[in-house]
Amino acid sequence: MKTSLLVFPTSLKGITLYNNCSSSCCGHNKDNEVTLHKLPYAYDALEPYIDAETVSIHHDKHHATYVNNFNNAISGFPELKGEKICTILKELDKVPVEIRTAVRNQGGGVFNHNFYWKILDKDNKGALPSGELAQSIDKHFKSFSQFQEQLSKVAISVFGSGWAWLTLCKNGSLQIESTPNQDTPLSAGRLPLLTIDVWEHAYYLKYQNRRVDYVKGIWNLFNWDFISERYSRLIKSI
Ligand code: MN
Repeated sequence: MKTSLLVFPTSLKGITLYNNCSSSCCGHNKDNEVTLHKLPYAYDALEPYIDAETVSIHHDKHHATYVNNFNNAISGFPELKGEKICTILKELDKVPVEIRTAVRNQGGGVFNHNFYWKILDKDNKGALPSGELAQSIDKHFKSFSQFQEQLSKVAISVFGSGWAWLTLCKNGSLQIESTPNQDTPLSAGRLPLLTIDVWEHAYYLKYQNRRVDYVKGIWNLFNWDFISERYSRLIKSI
C-alpha cells in the first residue's frame, strides 16, 4: 500500500472537486522528480505580444528554477516524491511545516507556469470561448467584453508580483481573482481555467513598466479551445 502524508479523506473540503488533476500539469521523471515541461511551441510563437527573449528566459530560467527548487525542497521527504504537485498544493496544510513555505512558493511556481504555457497559443486567430464556457461567461459576467474588462482590471491591479485568474468554484460558478507571489487558487479550493502571469519577468523586456499593454496583448494568445474543453470536463465532475 502506498504510504503518503497526502492521502486525504474524501470528506475534506468537498474533495471530490479535486479529482480532476490531470497529469498534464504535474509531470515526474523516473526518479519521481518533477520535470520542466517542454514549451509547447517555439520561443517566438507568441510574438508580437510576448517576445521570444522573454519566453526563453521565462521558461528556461524562471520556470526551470522553480522546478529545481521544488525538487530540492522535497528531496528529504520521500513521502512527497511522486505526489502530484496539484494534489500537494490543494492540501498545503498536510505538508510538513518545515518545508511548507518552500513547497507553496516553488511548487506553486511550477504549477502556475505549467498552466500558463498551456493556456496560451501561438495563434488563436481571434477565437473566443465556445460552448458551455461561453454560456457560463455570459451568465456570470453579462458578456465576453465585460468579462475581459474585469479580468484585465484585476491583472493590472495586482500589487507587486502575482497572477490573475479565471477559476471554477465548487458550486460551479466562475470567479475572477488574483493571487500574490506564486500562490495558486488550487490551495483555496478553486480550479484554474485561465491565468495571466503579471510578474515583471513575464513582460518587462518588451513592455518595461507598461503592464497594461502586456495584459491587452495577451488576449490575442488565449487558447480558447483548450480552456473551453477544460471547463466542460471540470464542470461535469463537480
Ligand atoms: Mn512567471
